[in-house]
Amino acid sequence: MRNHGFNPSCLAPVSYRSMEREREDRRERYARNEALFREVNERIKQLAEQWTATDELIEFTCECANRDCAERVRASLDDYEFVRVEPTRFLVAPGHLDLEVEDVIAERETFWIVDKRGDAAEAATELDPRS
Ligand SMILES: [Zn+2]
Repeated sequence: MRNHGFNPSCLAPVSYRSMEREREDRRERYARNEALFREVNERIKQLAEQWTATDELIEFTCECANRDCAERVRASLDDYEFVRVEPTRFLVAPGHLDLEVEDVIAERETFWIVDKRGDAAEAATELDPRS
């Protein structure tokens, strides 16, 4: 077997591609986590609306990208509905955002609302249970 030697220019595109892939995987994973928490919150909302006034605070689950986040987010049903009308909006605990893919559109004492941009917005829309 011939030894071709080490050629960094051959390796560069490969490692670049795998980095890109890893980045996409991460995006995908983030989107899935958020979509999962969103589904949990949809259940909470469905139960809550049967016995709660629309301005009463309910404990939702933080919908940030961190899978290990178990933070509770207190928001009213009205606030929650404001988040849900757009598939790109997520309800998160204050400070739980990724500036790379989202903007904060509302900051309250007990929760923040973030809005996804670009690829993340597309993934969020695709996974929206209401669409
Ligand atoms: Zn969180």
